Amino acid sequence: MTIGKREKIVDLFKGDKIGKEVSVKGWVRTRRGNKNIAFIALNDGSTIHNIQLVADVEVFGEEFLKDVSTGASIGAKGNLVESSGAEQPVEIQVRHIEIYGKADPSVYPLQKKGHSLEFLREIAHLRPRTNTFGAVLRIRHAMAYAIHKYFNDKGFYYIHTPIITGSDAEGAGALFKVTTLDINNPPRLQNGKVDFSQDFFGKEAKLTVSGQLEGELAALALSEIYTFGPTFRAENSNTPRHLAEFWMIEPEMAFYEISDNMDLAEDFLKYLTRYALEHCKEDLEFLNKMWDKELIERLKFVTENSFVRLSYTEAIAILEKADMKWEFPVSWGVDLQSEHERYLVEKHFKKPVILTDYPKEIKAFYMKLNDDNKTVRAMDVLFPKIGEIIGGSQREENLETLARRMVEMGIPQEEMWWYVETRKFGTAPHSGFGLGFERLLLFVTGMSNIRDVIPFPRTPKNCEF
Ligand code: ATP
Ligand code: MN
Repeated sequence: MTIGKREKIVDLFKGDKIGKEVSVKGWVRTRRGNKNIAFIALNDGSTIHNIQLVADVEVFGEEFLKDVSTGASIGAKGNLVESSGAEQPVEIQVRHIEIYGKADPSVYPLQKKGHSLEFLREIAHLRPRTNTFGAVLRIRHAMAYAIHKYFNDKGFYYIHTPIITGSDAEGAGALFKVTTLDINNPPRLQNGKVDFSQDFFGKEAKLTVSGQLEGELAALALSEIYTFGPTFRAENSNTPRHLAEFWMIEPEMAFYEISDNMDLAEDFLKYLTRYALEHCKEDLEFLNKMWDKELIERLKFVTENSFVRLSYTEAIAILEKADMKWEFPVSWGVDLQSEHERYLVEKHFKKPVILTDYPKEIKAFYMKLNDDNKTVRAMDVLFPKIGEIIGGSQREENLETLARRMVEMGIPQEEMWWYVETRKFGTAPHSGFGLGFERLLLFVTGMSNIRDVIPFPRTPKNCEF
């Protein structure tokens, strides 16, 4: 007797299969009961909720049921009935059980509830089987889908920018090198430097820190594009908000001024938040109960309120007046730290904030210079609990100004010839931004460490799994 084709557990809660014979397959969360009857909670990842299997001990035998233990994979077949218990609306009165894979209770690490998130990171190969990571991974999927839907509905094209890059000039962070040379004995030039002309690409290559520069090339032809891909930063940032490998969404739009860029960023974040509230309700309710009691309230708040928009200069004035002991002192010209960003959002305005017009010295060469010759048309979106969630700008479209800025900031123009040429041929005003996918997920799930919103985090000194 085989179990046959499985139904997803999520579908069994819809109610229309009551009274029918159904088959389910999944992983046992718990088994409890008495001498006569066993209650097995089964989960297949299709929902946060387990289905209860009710099994007659006499029919299956105590020895057999011993192997139906936490973590084991089984299939079961039986009648779906309304449950008398208050905890679940339906249950299955099982007639057949098939064990696919046992999980020896003396060694299976996910025995009890309430393992710490730190411990779960050490068993990242098994943590998708916990309620928390099931919820996070389903939300991660829903957000990825919603991102593509949002842009597709707006007529933006998804562009695949390279992951291996030959340009050293993006300026967004330290780079990982990509090479096939023997690192113990690389070919060398007369001056002792490594001879990269003998490397795979005939030049130095790295993992990309951003798809923006290539995204700009596409926007200056297709008008509105976005990228959504992995990016890499070899910075030694051991914080709850930084990964060495993370995913970024980067829309880039021709004929957008900075204010259009801000409108898009705000609309986009509200859309994604609303999408999560509508489509991930049960997972959010679980995370709200487990980890962050203000999560759903905060998500609703963001969808219902306008973001505050102000200049970097105005923000500095507020921070200088604030009655706070800063770890990093504030004055005009400094780069804002997370403590400053969160003060503005959580204490001062109590709303998401978009900061604009930063000093040119602390921003990238490609950002459009303002008439004051001191600030650039940058925009950072700051969120509660997160700090910077989006960084963007209007881009410098003027060839002379761009060339001057590249010299000032030590960006080699020869190497970036292709980027400079777009300003020579049919240049146009354009803008864009980067949303860190895992920062978005921190916000939407209420988790507080970025290592807990990506299946296999890559951080300094950690590349397991
Ligand atoms: P931060 O100041 O927080 O380190 P950044 O200014 O270096 O960020 P950008 O280069 O502007 O970041 O990247 C765009 C977006 O990518 C950021 O707004 C953020 O959402 C996300 N991001 C940047 N660095 C990381 C990282 N190391 N891990 C995860 N997300 C990141
Ligand atoms: Mn930034």
